[in-house]
Amino acid sequence: MKKGAKVRAAAIGEGLKVKVYPDPALKMPAENVRRFDAELSLFVEKMRVTMEMYEGVGLAAPQVGILEKIALVSWEGFFYVLINPRILEEEGSQEGDEGCLSFPGIYASVKRPARIRVAAMDVNGTERFYDVDGFLARAFLHEMDHLEGKLFIEYLSTLKRGMIRKKMFKRAMEEDR
Ligand SMILES: [Zn+2]
Repeated sequence: MKKGAKVRAAAIGEGLKVKVYPDPALKMPAENVRRFDAELSLFVEKMRVTMEMYEGVGLAAPQVGILEKIALVSWEGFFYVLINPRILEEEGSQEGDEGCLSFPGIYASVKRPARIRVAAMDVNGTERFYDVDGFLARAFLHEMDHLEGKLFIEYLSTLKRGMIRKKMFKRAMEEDR
């Protein structure tokens, strides 16, 4: 945790860059945030700016290489900060297209619960509850998965997942050249 906070402080100074699959940070589970201080607020603000720059609906800290349970969602003019989030209830199911800033240009249909109740801390360490459904529930779940090192391609068929992985590995190799 101390190590994580130090890494985060350095990241604030340098500016944030969204990591693209197969970056190993995307597969690692994040740790709970324990200190709600000015530096955390600063980091969340940096994440928000980064998310807007990349025109994302959501962004999770592991996507910028910080293994802490911090996720943001921006939807229909509302901005949600989910720190140490947990699902309390889930109900029904929905299917729809999902994209991810760590998989640029890739979209795939994913099955998720239709409605969820989530508890999460805000930047001040106050616990808040969210009852969300439809696309917003999907966005919450997608970002919360990132905090466990889980990616949306893991919900796809082996064939579809294989095709996306191949495309992403090819892209990474071309960028390394
Ligand atoms: Zn994502």
